[in-house]
Amino acid sequence: MAEQQDKEIQHKRQDLDQPMVLPGIHRYQFFTNLKDRGWTRNLDRVSLFGIVAALLATVIKPILRGNPATIYCYECRACYATQDRCPVGITFQAELAVAGRVGDYDRFIRNGGLKCIRCGNCQSYCVQYLPLPQMFAIMQEDTRAAMSKGIVARHSLENALAQGLVGKEFIDDVVKAMA
Ligand code: SF4
Ligand code: SF4
Repeated sequence: MAEQQDKEIQHKRQDLDQPMVLPGIHRYQFFTNLKDRGWTRNLDRVSLFGIVAALLATVIKPILRGNPATIYCYECRACYATQDRCPVGITFQAELAVAGRVGDYDRFIRNGGLKCIRCGNCQSYCVQYLPLPQMFAIMQEDTRAAMSKGIVARHSLENALAQGLVGKEFIDDVVKAMA
């Protein structure tokens, strides 16, 4: 019983124990009063851990894959202004940048990543002047390696071939991956 009371006292934060914001005025932090939070008392820590883990994954994955510039794309889509200055008709350059960041081969292929000729025309439309041709080239080689390991979905390759989304330098790789 006494132990139970001790526990309650430990978890109870009195108003006077709250941080003082002005002389004589304590800030009342309802959510820090552990007694009132019951089973949710560790929820903020778990949430924070989740947020930090997600952020680390966003940053670490592209670094490990050798494509760190993709981290800096903040998906503003200003590069879509490239329009018909892209000689192969790619319309969603940001999709390629994001696909490179998260290692999403299907998304990269679906948006024409394998037909990009790395001319650099889209780079001048990037508000951060990111090295888009280099970023796309790295992802192209990653995709080529993934195809050779058989980890790119077959339907994704079939659709790409049917829709003319494969540049001539990748045709052999795509055909081999589908064999
Ligand atoms: S670098 Fe690729 S996506 Fe950009 S304009 Fe040239 S072909 Fe199009
Ligand atoms: S303009 Fe640059 S930063 Fe913005 S979405 Fe395109 S690649 Fe990313």
